[in-house]
Amino acid sequence: MSSNLSRTTCLRLRRTFATASSHPPLSKLGATARSKAEQISSEWKGTSANGENTKNFIGGEFVESKAPQWIDVVDPATQTLLTRVPETTSEEFEQAVNAASEAYKTWSRSSILTRQRFVMDLQHQLRANGDAIANSIVLEQGKTYADAQGDLLRGLQVVETACGIPTALLGETIEVSKDMDTSTRRLPLGVCASIAPFNFPAMIPLWTIPTAIATGNTLIVKPSERDPGAAMMIAELCQRAGLPAGVLNVVHGTVPTVNAICDSPIIKAVSFVGGDRAGKHIYERGRKSGKRVQCNMGAKNHAVIMPDANKNHALNSLIGAAFGAAGQRCMAISVVVLVGTAQSWLPELVERAKKLKVNQGFEQGTDLGPVISPAAKLRITSLIASAEEQGGIIALDGRGLEVPEYPDGNWVGPTVVEATVDMRCYREEIFGPVLVVIRADTLDDALAIVNANPYGNGTAIFTQSGATARKFEREVEVGQVGINVPIPVPLPMFSWSGNKASFLGDVPFYGRGGIDFYTQNKTTTALWRAEDAVGNKASVDMPTHN
Ligand code: NAD
Repeated sequence: MSSNLSRTTCLRLRRTFATASSHPPLSKLGATARSKAEQISSEWKGTSANGENTKNFIGGEFVESKAPQWIDVVDPATQTLLTRVPETTSEEFEQAVNAASEAYKTWSRSSILTRQRFVMDLQHQLRANGDAIANSIVLEQGKTYADAQGDLLRGLQVVETACGIPTALLGETIEVSKDMDTSTRRLPLGVCASIAPFNFPAMIPLWTIPTAIATGNTLIVKPSERDPGAAMMIAELCQRAGLPAGVLNVVHGTVPTVNAICDSPIIKAVSFVGGDRAGKHIYERGRKSGKRVQCNMGAKNHAVIMPDANKNHALNSLIGAAFGAAGQRCMAISVVVLVGTAQSWLPELVERAKKLKVNQGFEQGTDLGPVISPAAKLRITSLIASAEEQGGIIALDGRGLEVPEYPDGNWVGPTVVEATVDMRCYREEIFGPVLVVIRADTLDDALAIVNANPYGNGTAIFTQSGATARKFEREVEVGQVGINVPIPVPLPMFSWSGNKASFLGDVPFYGRGGIDFYTQNKTTTALWRAEDAVGNKASVDMPTHN
């Protein structure tokens, strides 16, 4: 079968046109996965892991869609159908927009302490239900249980930061002239929307939900159609935390739903995280209808290993950052630049990568799970093959890896490819457990390589020299820099700062940037002359109110 044929088949397999829910056996799931799937299906209103449909969340209700077209959500370790998400109809989308618009009238006028309390209660709910969310992520996305907990915890940190919303929204005021004050307040925008990718099903919805809502906006979330469960659970927890109906809505679907978001005259701002193609499209289409748009997109993150680095720390950091989550992180290290004598560490790097255990995410001792879909596996393995065709050396080959207990999983083992910068495997984002190795003679050569790459999400240098680190940090044209830190994702008291081709927009996600993105300033100048004051002295005259 040709690559194209099998890709088409894979894609076709993911789509169904029936609305009736079925109960396929979960027998292919391992024992742990099966019991988690059953628990999710019985305990949560909006999602399922035993083949029932996932619902939309509109106006405070979990509603079954009337869509004629549905998308299968399958466990990437077994291809078991877990749930289906609707290609939301235009009427249902309008209902969500109307619910958000109606709710905005009161939510935008709710007191700052009401909004703060909601975020605090959401924090408690998320902590209390973290297990369930992590279970859903393992089942639908495939990452390990520990990594799934990390997915939620990084989102939870945004919620916790949003608990400081009263201070974050403090305005400014000054007496600009005698008795004349100018003050600036930050006000919400209106109905906003957030479109998420598959790789962090909890963290990325939580990049936007707490900040958008705490600043007084209402929100429509469109989760990835491949792993909607975490977002549905978060929606239910928002409800349990007392969020009024319509403030948060969740609609599912693919391009038609995204286009409806971009075109809606009621939606004022769109946050997108995902790949380049969708990001560019959403930025252009959303801007055309006058929206504020922020798009976090693809990446090719380089780690530069200097010969004076702490070898053990550098190699372990590399292995974790390149292969953790099966390389499906936008901040994964996908390229290592070995400088000078550090090139001799390559065999040891390969040996350490070989020891990683690939298996289903609930299995004990698993380091990395499957990749998200057969189509993703095909793309990854064809990029490895392209390296071979273009003269690269496959130092470790993860193609053809089998996991005997899970014969149908989308397995790709850790792969290390020696390449040059003109090869496809270097130029394209692989988004799998593949580390591309590039050799450089000097720090200057390494800097030139990193800076010539179009992407600017993250980079790291490993060195024991403060001077080398300082030069690298100063000269590298990448927005997020790690010094002996492999994945320098900023905590939410800072903002995300990926740049170049990894970002479109003007205002970044979360932190100060998140507050700015979701608010607009109102500046008021008022004159109240002190000399006009009445009642400075007791008046005994009949009041006339003139
Ligand atoms: P994706 O672009 O395929 O999907 C993201 C979202 O866009 C989904 O909700 C999807 O339904 C929608 N979408 C997909 N194609 C579309 C199209 N043609 N038109 C309109 N909407 C479309 O991305 P993915 O595969 O889910 O996620 C992986 C990508 O996300 C990688 O490129 C990764 O680097 C990137 N990512 C970036 C960051 C970051 O912060 N820079 C974080 C996580 C993931």
